[in-house]
Amino acid sequence: MKYISTRGIAPSLNFEEVLLTGLASDGGLYVPEKYPFFSYEQIKNFQRLSYVELASKIMAPFTEGSLTEQDLLKITSDVYSKFNHSAIAPLKQIQQNLWIMELFQGPTLAFKDYALQVVGKLFDFILKKNNKKITIVGATSGDTGSAAIEGCKRCSNVDIFILHPYGRVSDVQRRQMTTVISKNVYNIALKGTFDDCQSFVKNLFANKNFKEKYNLAAVNSINWARIMAQVVYYFYAALNLGAPDREVSFAVPTGNFGNIFAGYVAKRMGLPIKNLILGSNSNDILPRFIHSGIMEKKDVKPSISPSMDIQISSNFERILFEICDRNSQKVAQLMEGFKSNGKYSVSMDVLQTLTSFMKADAFNDQQILCEISRIYKTCQYILDPHSAIGLMVAEKYREKDVPMIVLATAHPAKFPKPINEAIGVCPELPFSLKNLMNKEENYIVLENKIQDVIDFIEKCEGK
Ligand SMILES: *Cc1c(COP(=O)(O)O)cnc(C)c1O
Repeated sequence: MKYISTRGIAPSLNFEEVLLTGLASDGGLYVPEKYPFFSYEQIKNFQRLSYVELASKIMAPFTEGSLTEQDLLKITSDVYSKFNHSAIAPLKQIQQNLWIMELFQGPTLAFKDYALQVVGKLFDFILKKNNKKITIVGATSGDTGSAAIEGCKRCSNVDIFILHPYGRVSDVQRRQMTTVISKNVYNIALKGTFDDCQSFVKNLFANKNFKEKYNLAAVNSINWARIMAQVVYYFYAALNLGAPDREVSFAVPTGNFGNIFAGYVAKRMGLPIKNLILGSNSNDILPRFIHSGIMEKKDVKPSISPSMDIQISSNFERILFEICDRNSQKVAQLMEGFKSNGKYSVSMDVLQTLTSFMKADAFNDQQILCEISRIYKTCQYILDPHSAIGLMVAEKYREKDVPMIVLATAHPAKFPKPINEAIGVCPELPFSLKNLMNKEENYIVLENKIQDVIDFIEKCEGK
């Protein structure tokens, strides 16, 4: 499998290279040169498979030339056997033809585990094979950091440094990172904001000497391998509800557009997906685009669904590439415009290609709290704030005869404050995390100065 850049200038890469590369050198994102396609019969045969087996079959065409289906099966059995539920991605029925897929059964209780657990193992496999080492440096506002640390804590060829804004992540989120005591894991609490953390990371990657000296790698959501691993649960849910003999739709609480893009990939691979429904919080840039064809950046507003507080959805460029008929020059031109003016627009034709299967809406904090309370009262089910957005947008656009599956992206116990406000009950942490609040923590607090971060990494890597 070859991968090409959405901006058309960077060289094409194979899977191993794409796994270890973040952004393409022309500023674009890597996508498969051609999407693999499964026939009706092939998908029919998937109906008998477990999640672990299905995962290796779905990912194999993407890793062709680097890992075989057997290699993948070893990885997926290892990874998903440690999840908290034997179904891995269990489906709960809420009403007729309305389902919730619980994607919070991994070690850090957010859907990011489904991909980052696999990515950690892929790094290990490829790096051992090539006798290489990498240093992952990342910034987090909460969920990504802990999922990345859990995914990499046992990788002998990986060191991982995660920056989080000091005092600005929840206790549960911080402890999920800082209680992982492993000699390759380094947590940095930076006396700044999340944006400071992110801009320091960008700076380190832009520093060619530093980047090469330590073999820097990223685990942010533009990494193709993450998308690939997320395609699996779309197949799993649809197969469970009657695909390929029946169409289904999905509703996805969206931030960086990685998760919902994986749904688009599943559709391109032959899965009969009717609609992909996108939910946002008050940071509504994507619903505004889908309603108008105009992408226009505004300031980020903090909300009670913090993992979706975002104004630039990096993965959107991948779908832009597709709806522009893979015209990379056009994409490059639009993205340049966005960078300089914070704005671009597409023609009604191009927009129509997208809206034929994608609908969207945004919901504010008050609406989220009401939905959590309504579902608790009517179904005795506790939704986390992100998943509540998914359910609201699903209700708005669902069709009577098409099963709708809402992706529940986090466990409610990760966000106890808004849940308590909505229903007067604090959701309990699952058994696997019961000890979290008593465990020893390990992190270093650094001033908001990039040189301090550089010095720290150099000191640790010189060990
Ligand atoms: C990361 C995250 C999202 C957003 O997913 P994207 O792939 O960035 O669109 C939604 N909900 C939760 C709980 C998350 O952690």
